[in-house]
Amino acid sequence: MLNVSLLGSTGSIGRQSLDVIAACGMSVAAITANSSVALLEEQARQFRPKLAVAYSEAAARDLKVRLADTPVRVAAGMDGLIEAATLSEADTVITSVVGMIGLKPTLAAIGERKRIALANKETLVCAGELVMRTARENGAEIIPVDSEHSALFQCLECNRDRGEVKRLILTASGGPFFGKKREDLLNATRADALKHPNWSMGAKITTDSATLMNKGLEFIEAMRLYDMPPEKISITVHRQSIIHSMVEYCDNAVLAQMGVPDMRLPIQYALTYPRRVKAVAGEMDLLKCPPLTFEEPDLDTFRCLALALEAAKKPGNPCAILNGANEAAVGFFLEDKIRFLEIAELVEYAMEKVPHGPADTLEQVLAADAAAREAVLEGFARR
Ligand code: MG
Repeated sequence: MLNVSLLGSTGSIGRQSLDVIAACGMSVAAITANSSVALLEEQARQFRPKLAVAYSEAAARDLKVRLADTPVRVAAGMDGLIEAATLSEADTVITSVVGMIGLKPTLAAIGERKRIALANKETLVCAGELVMRTARENGAEIIPVDSEHSALFQCLECNRDRGEVKRLILTASGGPFFGKKREDLLNATRADALKHPNWSMGAKITTDSATLMNKGLEFIEAMRLYDMPPEKISITVHRQSIIHSMVEYCDNAVLAQMGVPDMRLPIQYALTYPRRVKAVAGEMDLLKCPPLTFEEPDLDTFRCLALALEAAKKPGNPCAILNGANEAAVGFFLEDKIRFLEIAELVEYAMEKVPHGPADTLEQVLAADAAAREAVLEGFARR
């Protein structure tokens, strides 16, 4: 029976992971969250992990009191996250924390040769080369949870010779602002950006879907996961989110993975791979399926995607700068401090301001991330 450590258990992917774990009869070794103690307590009582971690020290103190009558141990901070990622009882670690904060625990889990069910795309974007190299050296498996990368993983499975792959085709829903132009988005609000047409996700990724930065991050994630150069990856807007991505081979065969938009399917596959088990996600009814459409993304309106594609072509730290700047700028947007189009402006400012350099070590990645966040603060103060 699989025993899972779940980093980020109270977020959207975390809660859906627990659905899958419960339905498939797996057990939970550890759960972690930033500060949602009420939900952490509820999850700890239901799943009885060995360890429950709140990143916030104050939240951890509260959680400890709440769980005093249970055998569940409580820990805090980055040390707690790393302990959860490396528990000897856990064979698989789901990394569903949001943002760069997932990097150190992911590397720690790789060091212990855990299977990584990777739902923390920022980790691969910032430190993709470092993470993949460390995984290769340790013989740790990284199985993607992101729906597009899970689709690519499934379409690549029957053909392990990457020399035969002509192109990876990432599909994009287009987000809530599809079809809009820059002038339509001048007054776009947080509430508008958070109305995603197909997927239900957390606030950060939903904002990234509205700016299309999410697809840019996924483009970089695909490069790292499948060791593909940027010219062999393309993006097509597919509004229905039925095809989750495709692989085109040198004989022009195109394989697509389809299904209802439900994250529980890629989560489940990352846990059970190479086996498939009875579905938690819903069945697809082809006869009720809307017509499938494909279009070019609009890089003039959605500048974040253009910036990500530029960063993807550059070696070293530009992707870490892009990601750090985006996390900081989206933070401002979600606090209603900047307008929607300013997210791309601040990211661009940081990309120009922070010196480009190597990203071979954890220290170099963290330094690029910190410098990018600082540049966004500075750009924000100057506006
Ligand atoms: Mg995705």
